[in-house]
Amino acid sequence: MSDKPFTTVKRDDLVPICPHCGNEITEVYMRTKGSGFVEGKNVLYFCPHCMKVLGFGQSRMI
Ligand SMILES: [Zn+2]
Repeated sequence: MSDKPFTTVKRDDLVPICPHCGNEITEVYMRTKGSGFVEGKNVLYFCPHCMKVLGFGQSRMI
């Protein structure tokens, strides 16, 4: 990772493409794992078309 700053451009008009099946991702499915009370939940994001995992995240809902 470099320390160079980068610019984030918000583009709600563009539709991401799934790297696995090539379909447009207009929505992303997610599953949560973990209690969510004390620790943050582990969130799994996956493509609604091919069900392949797109990424992981942390959700800290209380
Ligand atoms: Zn896909």
